[in-house]
Amino acid sequence: MGYRILKDKADQIFTKMQEKYDVFAPVLKIGDGTFSEIDVIRYDKITSFDEIEWEKKSDYSFKEALLSINETLFYFTDDETTVPKGPQKEILIFLRACDMHALKRLDQIYLDNKFEDFYYKRVREKAKFVLMGCEHSCESGFCVSMGTNKADNYDMYLKIVDGNVEIDAKDDELAEYFKEGSEASVTPDFVTENPTKVTLPKLSKESKDDPIWKEYGERCIGCGRCNFVCPTCTCFTMQDIFYKDNKKAGERRRVWASCQIDGYSQIAGGFEFRKDQSDRVRFKVMHKVYDFEKRFGYPMCVGCGRCDDVCPEYISYSTILNRLAKEEK
Ligand code: SF4
Ligand code: SF4
Repeated sequence: MGYRILKDKADQIFTKMQEKYDVFAPVLKIGDGTFSEIDVIRYDKITSFDEIEWEKKSDYSFKEALLSINETLFYFTDDETTVPKGPQKEILIFLRACDMHALKRLDQIYLDNKFEDFYYKRVREKAKFVLMGCEHSCESGFCVSMGTNKADNYDMYLKIVDGNVEIDAKDDELAEYFKEGSEASVTPDFVTENPTKVTLPKLSKESKDDPIWKEYGERCIGCGRCNFVCPTCTCFTMQDIFYKDNKKAGERRRVWASCQIDGYSQIAGGFEFRKDQSDRVRFKVMHKVYDFEKRFGYPMCVGCGRCDDVCPEYISYSTILNRLAKEEK
């Protein structure tokens, strides 16, 4: 159902909604980036529409709101374990079309990949999603090439236009909040063209000896930043923390992991499957657009372009894909 409502009135409604929902959205954090005086846009809990960064793409994705970078799975003592409580309130997450598609990938891995992840499920069941439209394409994204530029499985679409808030609410509970507004026809903004275009390689005859892997392996410093910003990377590692004041008590945490860093593929006994950086780069490229598709029927990458934006070595994932596709011709 579409509504238009004065921004001031919508602000009051938004405050009321927070009795039920914790709201997460991209926020511009001045000087909070990797280096001093570098800004960053990342997800945070908000209390007003004015905190949202509407124009630019977030550097980190909405994934942070569903999967903590660092999550305690349970606390332990000598003879018992305690699982921390899940979120108490419902969750509302603002995100863009490509990220709505990334949500499908997260659900695939955490809910429909032989096992259901208890921790993800209990957060996911409380989450609703508010689509932010894209009036203009970002520089590095290639959502059109990946078919992720449009999304219609949102719970609500919201846009601020000329002192009004326009809403398309598909979720009845969310629609209820805005029904005092005037009815309006509201359709999301989607881009139809990106400056970055990608042709996906088929990769079925791709060779481990292709010099492209050595070339990028020599450039990649294995920092893992590309994995951390990616809305579709889902790997984590485990850490047992023993408290300093009582070595018999502690907690088990899972923390985000990166397939590009040393030790990721190391197993008991010290053997490491992908010791060479070129093997790691190859693994990531193949996994995102070949292995995942072979298993689930669609590529993992949604073309958000964040990995290209963040790489300190200016390695462009979209360029690698295009080069591989060209080689196949
Ligand atoms: S691989 Fe890069 S472009 Fe693809 S979804 Fe991840 S961050 Fe976005
Ligand atoms: S961000 Fe760049 S340098 Fe760092 S691991 Fe990824 S590809 Fe390598």
